[in-house]
Amino acid sequence: MQRTALQLFYLLSAILFVLGLRGLSHPRTARRGMFLAELGMLLAIIGTLFHHEILSYRWIVGGLVLGTVIGAPLAIWIPMTAVPQRTALSHSFGALAAALVGISEYARHGAHLGAGRVAVIGVEVMLGSLTFTGSLMAAGKLQGLIRGYPITYRGQNVSNLALLAGMAGLTVALALTPEAGRLFYLMVALALIFGVLLILPIGAADMPVVIALLNSYGGLTDAAMGFMLDNKIQIITGSLDGSSGFILSILMCRAMNRSMTNVLFGAFGKVPELTAGEEVKKPIRQTTVDEAAEVLGTARSIVFVPGYGMAVSQAQHRVRELADALKKKGVSVRYGIHAVAGRMPGHMNVLLAEANVPYDELYDMDQINPQFAETDVAVVVGANDVVNPAAKRERGSPIYGMPILEVERARVVIVCKRSLGPGFAGIDNELYYNENTLMLFGDAKDTMVKLATALKQ
Ligand code: NAP
Repeated sequence: MQRTALQLFYLLSAILFVLGLRGLSHPRTARRGMFLAELGMLLAIIGTLFHHEILSYRWIVGGLVLGTVIGAPLAIWIPMTAVPQRTALSHSFGALAAALVGISEYARHGAHLGAGRVAVIGVEVMLGSLTFTGSLMAAGKLQGLIRGYPITYRGQNVSNLALLAGMAGLTVALALTPEAGRLFYLMVALALIFGVLLILPIGAADMPVVIALLNSYGGLTDAAMGFMLDNKIQIITGSLDGSSGFILSILMCRAMNRSMTNVLFGAFGKVPELTAGEEVKKPIRQTTVDEAAEVLGTARSIVFVPGYGMAVSQAQHRVRELADALKKKGVSVRYGIHAVAGRMPGHMNVLLAEANVPYDELYDMDQINPQFAETDVAVVVGANDVVNPAAKRERGSPIYGMPILEVERARVVIVCKRSLGPGFAGIDNELYYNENTLMLFGDAKDTMVKLATALKQ
C-alpha cells in the first residue's frame, strides 16, 4: 500500500515536472509551468513521506520547519534585483545537500557499498562539491562582493586541468580501492577548490553561460544521488534539470557568440579597469528631460532597450506608461531585448511581462538590429554592456565577440542612467561619446516619470 502510494505520487510528480518545463518554454505559459512544477515538487515530497524506511518523522518535521523559516522570508523579502544571486545561492545549497548525503553514505557504509556504488558516490560528491563552491563564487560576483570581470592568473588553465585530472584519477582509484577513505576526502577537497578556481576567471559576458552550466551540474549531482539512493524521482528531476541547464548553456553560448571551451578556458587578458564614478575625460552630450521629451515627441519610431538598471530602479511600469503616452501620439514603439540583459536569462521579458507590455512589441536581437537604421530614437534604459560597441571592435575586451544591440545606428540614442559608471563587465562604453548619443542622467524610474509628464505638457 505504502509503496503503491509512493510510486503513484512519483509518477504524477514526474509528469508535472515535464509539463512544467514545457510551460516554461514560453512567457505566455511560464506562470502555469511554474505552478505545475511547484505542484510536482509538493507531490514528490508527500510521496517520499510514504517511504518504508522512514521510522520517525521527528527529524523530517524539524528540517521542514527550519527550511520554511529560512526559505519563506528569503522568497518574500529578497528584491527582484537580487533574485539571480539568490538563485545561485539556492544552487549552492542544493549541491551542498547532495554532496553531504553522498559523504554520509560513504562515511556510514564505506567499502561495503561495492566498487560501482562508491564510484557513483565519488562522481556525485565531486559534482556537488564543485557546484557548491562554484555557485557561491557566482553569487558573490552577482552580488558585487567579488569583482564581476575575469580574475586571471598565470598558468590558470594548466592548474585547472591538473585539478580536474586529479579529481578524475582519484575517483577511478576509489572505485578500484573503495576502502581508501583518504582518497575520497582528498577528492572532496580538490573539488571544493576546483569550484572556486573554475569561476574566478569567468566574468562579464560569460557569467550567464556559467550560471546555466552550474545549474546543469546541480541537476547531474541530483541524478547521481538518485542512482546512489535508488530514488527514481530524483533520477528523473536530476536528469531534467541537468539536461535543460545544459541546453540553456548551449543556447546562451550561441546567443553570446562563444564556444563552451572559450567560456571555460578563455583565459581573458587583463581588462582596462574603470571603477564606478571614475571621471572620463571625453566630451559627452548631456541632455535635459525637456530636450529629451522634445526629441521623443517628434519621433515616429522608438525602440526601448532595457537593461539591468531598469531592474534596479524597478522602472518597467513607468517605461510602459511612457510608451503608452508615445503610442497615443501615433509613435511606433518596440522593445529590443538582449539575451543576457539584466542578471538572469529572460530577466527583461519577466519584468516587461509584469508591466503588461504586449509580447508582440518585444523583439530579440536578430529581429531588431536590422531595424535600428530606420529608427528615430533608441532609448537605452539602464543597459550598458549589451549596447557597448567594444564587443565588436576591441579585441581583448571581456565582451569581445558578444553580439550587441546596435543602438548607435538609430538617428538619436538617449541613454538613461545615473552616471558614466560601467556595467557588469566593468568597462567603459564608447557609445556614450558618440555624436548622436544624448546622456540623460538620473534614476531610470524618475527619468521615465519625468519624461512622460514633460511629453504630456
Ligand atoms: P549592465 O552592463 O550591468 O549595466 C547596467 C547599468 O545600469 C549600469 O551601467 C548602471 O549605470 C545602470 N543603473 C544601475 N542602477 C540604475 C538606476 N537606478 N537607474 C538607471 N540606471 C541604473 O547591464 P546590461 O546592459 O543589462 O548587461 C548585463 C550584464 O550582466 C552583461 O555583462 C551580462 O553578461 C551580465 N550578466 C548577465 C546575466 C544574465 O543571465 N542575464 C547573468 C550574469 C551576468 P549607473 O551606475 O551609471 O546608473
